[in-house]
Amino acid sequence: MKFIDEATITVSSGHGGSGCVSFRREKYIPRGGPDGGNGGNGGNIIFKTDTGKRTLLEFRTKRSFTAQNGAPGKGKQQTGKTGKDTIISLPPGTIISEAETNRVIKDMVRPDTTFVFLKGGRGGKGNKHFTSSTYRSPRFAQPGEPGQTVTLKLELKVLADIGIIGLPNAGKSTLLSVISAARPAINDYPFTTLSPNLGMVQVKNGEPFAVADIPGLIEGAHTGTGLGIQFLKHIERTRFLVHLIDASAIDNADPLNGFRTINTELAQYGKNLMEKPQVVVLNKTDIPEAVEKADTFIKATGLKTCFKISAATKNGIEDLKNHLFALLCQYHEQDSSPDSE
Ligand code: GDP
Ligand code: MG
Repeated sequence: MKFIDEATITVSSGHGGSGCVSFRREKYIPRGGPDGGNGGNGGNIIFKTDTGKRTLLEFRTKRSFTAQNGAPGKGKQQTGKTGKDTIISLPPGTIISEAETNRVIKDMVRPDTTFVFLKGGRGGKGNKHFTSSTYRSPRFAQPGEPGQTVTLKLELKVLADIGIIGLPNAGKSTLLSVISAARPAINDYPFTTLSPNLGMVQVKNGEPFAVADIPGLIEGAHTGTGLGIQFLKHIERTRFLVHLIDASAIDNADPLNGFRTINTELAQYGKNLMEKPQVVVLNKTDIPEAVEKADTFIKATGLKTCFKISAATKNGIEDLKNHLFALLCQYHEQDSSPDSE
């Protein structure tokens, strides 16, 4: 499965400042020598990876980046100020290519990469620079070098942060469509749903995160039957799982039956899938008998945190989204804390 997030941006480095033509003017020195300073260099365009970023969402609205120009040189041999660099943060894993030719410029895979892409134009020399024993009063200076402009394509292979697992018919596809369909701050972001199986979820004031619907996880999936196996591979890369249960289908005589089936499947697949944290979510609580069954289930598991939702009526969805986001932030902090190996 490949989910691509893309953006096209234009970047320009700063122009160099022009050199200055100036002559010293001081009392008692009627004909002072040249003292025009050099122009400052233009600012660079620099890319860096930022592990807090997971999508290219922001490049939908801001597509053009310009570094500051260098300031012109001044009299009294003052060099112009260097233009400020523009630093563009990208999620790790972003590939930068030239838009026109598709030539790959840089693969920003590693989390701590800084890449100076476009150097700013050099500042021009002031007339002081051109002074020599034979040429005492140059009345010219060098212009600054122009900056460069390049249009780039950014591409990011999106990996799911969270996988939704559960028996067929639990409501996984419905849940994904419901949590990723709300677009308060995203407006026309076309990647809200990247594919039927991957959606971007946005909570208020948070970085969007990717959630995958993992279908076909049924008995036998680990042996390669059915759809399951390729999706199980996808689960390996998620940070944690949402285990979704159709509460209306819970068997009162053996409330944990379906839950166990899926967990056995995970355990048999190996790769420590069972050790991935699970958030247990009971769905279809709009159906009257489902509420009671959900409570029976919760009692049987002894779990402290279980969510009761209805993907159909969207009841409990906001709480669930916020919880998932908070958990993700928490894991993310653990991952980047110096204590973790
Ligand atoms: P999946 O197989 O896990 O992807 O399940 P689907 O999302 O395809 O849902 C299976 C069926 O359950 C569909 O008919 C949905 O309309 C229905 N469904 C999903 N969520 C709810 C819910 O919260 N309440 C009710 N009553 N039905 C639901
Ligand atoms: Mg489905």
